[in-house]
Order: sequence, then structure tokens, then C-alpha cells
Amino acid sequence: MAVMFEKVAVLGLGLIGSSICLGMRENNLARVISGHAKSVETRQVARELDLVDEVHDTAIDAVKNADLVILCVPVGACGAMAKEIGPHLKSGAILTDVGSVKGAIVRDCSPHVPKSVHFIPGHPIAGTEQSGPRSGFAAVFHGKWCILTPMKGSDAQAVSTLTQFWQNLGSMVDVMDAEHHDMVLAITSHLPHLIAYTTVATAADLETVTNSEVVKYSASGFRDFTRIAASDPTMWRDVFLNNKDAVLEMLGRFSEELAVLQRAVRWGDGETLFNLFTRAREVRRGIIAAGQDTAAPDFGRGQAKS
Ligand code: NAP
Repeated sequence: MAVMFEKVAVLGLGLIGSSICLGMRENNLARVISGHAKSVETRQVARELDLVDEVHDTAIDAVKNADLVILCVPVGACGAMAKEIGPHLKSGAILTDVGSVKGAIVRDCSPHVPKSVHFIPGHPIAGTEQSGPRSGFAAVFHGKWCILTPMKGSDAQAVSTLTQFWQNLGSMVDVMDAEHHDMVLAITSHLPHLIAYTTVATAADLETVTNSEVVKYSASGFRDFTRIAASDPTMWRDVFLNNKDAVLEMLGRFSEELAVLQRAVRWGDGETLFNLFTRAREVRRGIIAAGQDTAAPDFGRGQAKS
């Protein structure tokens, strides 16, 4: 594959940042990858794993002369980082991010982006519950969607270049506005995380069922909630602080559905329960048919062991 960029700067070298670096290396997308992480430890691991060609102590040094700059830090940290690097961005460069919320990124970063820089927010719908520079792997983006949320007046050529970049990392790309992104992700990602956190917290607080029983019998469903609930607390705190309206809207709808189920359980309304469960099963089948998960029983866990 032909080199796409002379220099790419990746700011934040956790799960997503390090995965992008590995993907760029695998596909030869940048002649030079420069990286910055906040902590000395992460910068040290980046050197050890050879994630980037240059490790910088400051974001300002990392972005010098970069043609593409990717913010890979928690949503709540992007505004301050954009403010810091804004005056040092190369004219004509593309600035993007990977944050799980888009409206807040536009709100917090736009004021600091020079007119000569193409700011195109993005969000790869890919990841795991792991975090940190050792958790990255290039294949995390393979076959997964990446959503770009260009603003009105965004340069079409820059959007096309960034689309190509994500496709070269193995993703499929969709374009939508930031507000719509936040509504879609509120139901597909943010609400499930909130429910998982609540379920795990409820189990942890139970008095009639012991913690050891919760662990012992977790394979009956609870375990799958704990995987989601093991996600990085900083990242998820920032998601809920920054996608408040859409999450509250989805939570309202969820509560109504829950009330319907609660009533059906109370009154022994098997038909309502059966119909709802049947609809839900169809959704799962649709996800498998779209190649977004494995059809193997137990998410392929059995196969992974053998
Ligand atoms: P991560 O593994 O925890 O890595 C976060 C990185 O950001 C680390 O390099 C960390 O630096 C740095 N950082 C943390 N707080 C910072 C601050 N206040 N200022 C500057 N740098 C800071 O997280 P991640 O999973 O890669 O997530 C990064 C972004 O990707 C988030 O915006 C998240 O919403 C988005 N995202 C995540 C997933 C997922 O599944 N995890 C999927 C899609 C998008 P140190 O290592 O030096 O502490």
C-alpha cells in the first residue's frame, strides 16, 4: 500500500491510539509516526513496543509538521489538548479524534482549530474492555465501522482522505452529523454500559446472595455484563458527562420498556414476554448476519480455548 502521509501524530497511546499506530505500521500508511502520552510510563512502553518512530514529552512537539493529527485521549481531555496544539498545527493538516461522543468534541475543540486546518471528528466503533498501550492490536478495526462527523463546510478532499485512511486500517466508514451519532451511540453503546454498570453494582450490593455465589454462577449471564462493566472508568465517566441529553432520552425509553416487562412479570403475561424476547432475538440474528459478531455459541469462548 502506498504511504498516505509523510507524518502522522497520535496523541494518547492507549488501546485506540496504540491500535492505530500498529495498523499504520502494518499497512505502511505513514512515513513517520510521532506519538505523545501524558505519563512517563506510557511513553516508556511506547518505546519498548516500538509503537511510534518518535516519542515526545509534549503534544506540541509531537504535532510539528504532522499532516494528520489524531486525538486518542478521553473525551473530556480533547478540548484542552486542541487548545494546546492549535497554534502549532501545520497549515492544511487534518485534525481528527476517536472520542466516543461527537457533539462535545465539536463544542470543545472547534474554537481552537485554525481555519487552515481541516477538523473532521471521528469514532471507530471498535474496541475492547482493555486499556493502555499494551492492549492495542491492529485487527481491532478490521470489519468494524468508523463514523466520521464532518462539519458543514468541511473540505470534501480531506473527508475523502480520512475515509481512505480508516479503510486502509480495515474499517468501513459512515458519515453522519455529530448530533445523530450521539443519539445512535447512546442506544447502541452508552445505555448498555450504564445497564451493565448498574447490574454489576446491584449484584455487588446484594445481601441474600453472597459474592462468591455471584462469581461461581456468573456464566449464566452475569459474566457478560461484567466484561462491559470492566471498561475504563475515566473513559466512561467522560462519555456520560458529555452525552447527557441523548443518554437521558434513551434511558427514558428504556425505563418505559422495563415498566412494561415488570408489569408482564407481575401479572404472568407470557405473551408479552414471549413477543418481546422474540423481537430481541431477531436483533441478535441481524448483528450476526451483518458480520458484527460471531454466531458461535457463547461468543466463541469455547473455541478460543481449544
Ligand atoms: P486508554 O487505553 O485508557 O488510553 C487513553 C490515553 O489517553 C492514554 O494514553 C492516557 O495517557 C491518555 N490520557 C488520559 N487522560 C488524559 C488527559 N487528561 N490528558 C491527556 N492525555 C490523557 O483509552 P482508549 O480506550 O484508547 O480511549 C481513548 C479514546 O478512544 C476515548 O476518547 C474513547 O472514548 C475512545 N474510544 C474508545 C473505545 C474503547 O473501546 N476503549 C472505542 C472507541 C473509541 P497515559 O497512558 O499516559 O495515562
